[in-house]
Amino acid sequence: MQQQQDIDVAANLAAIRERIKAAGGDRVRLVAVSKFHGPERIGPALAAGQRHFGENRVQEAAGKWPPLRQAHPDIVLHLIGPLQSNKTSDAVALFDVIETVDREKIARRLATEMQKQNRRPECFVQVNIGEEPQKAGIPPREADDFIRLCREEYDLPITGLMCIPPVDEEPSPFFALLAKIARRNGLENISMGMSADFETAIAFGATEVRIGSDIFGPRPTP
Ligand SMILES: *Cc1c(COP(=O)(O)O)cnc(C)c1O
Repeated sequence: MQQQQDIDVAANLAAIRERIKAAGGDRVRLVAVSKFHGPERIGPALAAGQRHFGENRVQEAAGKWPPLRQAHPDIVLHLIGPLQSNKTSDAVALFDVIETVDREKIARRLATEMQKQNRRPECFVQVNIGEEPQKAGIPPREADDFIRLCREEYDLPITGLMCIPPVDEEPSPFFALLAKIARRNGLENISMGMSADFETAIAFGATEVRIGSDIFGPRPTP
């Protein structure tokens, strides 16, 4: 493993962008996952032109991003971690894309907050693509109904799907299934693929990959 001090974020970003291109992902959006990292890592990414960032925790992001945003108003922040219902207000205020809409209660709260704040961050539905009991997300067979509910009942701006496939399995069939659900629901954004598997995800139709450790190095324990 690399030493923390040796991480060259700009070089890592350039290498990842090359790999994305080589995998056929010229139009794939790179979300740099900056969870647990501070400005000493995020700064070089911003200087290298990176603008889409992913965070897992509303509170951590709320402490970290407002000053960076003042300096770079074109930053696009993605929430990629579980959303608790008591954090929906902060999430709507802070994020531009909320990728983890995974139950009706959250959909309802998001709808209320969007009205209240007059802000409409894009929403993705998180699908529990491997049907793992410990993981968040809507089971694949309930995805169509849930997407319809979010759109028709709550008028949420649902524009995509997100998944995290099971860690120890070949991810291809899971990526293929997510892409299929997205297509049949007319959703243009497919957020799948992390450091270990993003090239496979691109081959199966990812429009967005979420990469953390290959850019920023190992995460400090929070
Ligand atoms: C942490 C995280 C990532 C990035 O993972 P790496 O393996 O560090 O690239 C992507 N997506 C989600 C949902 C994450 O929590």
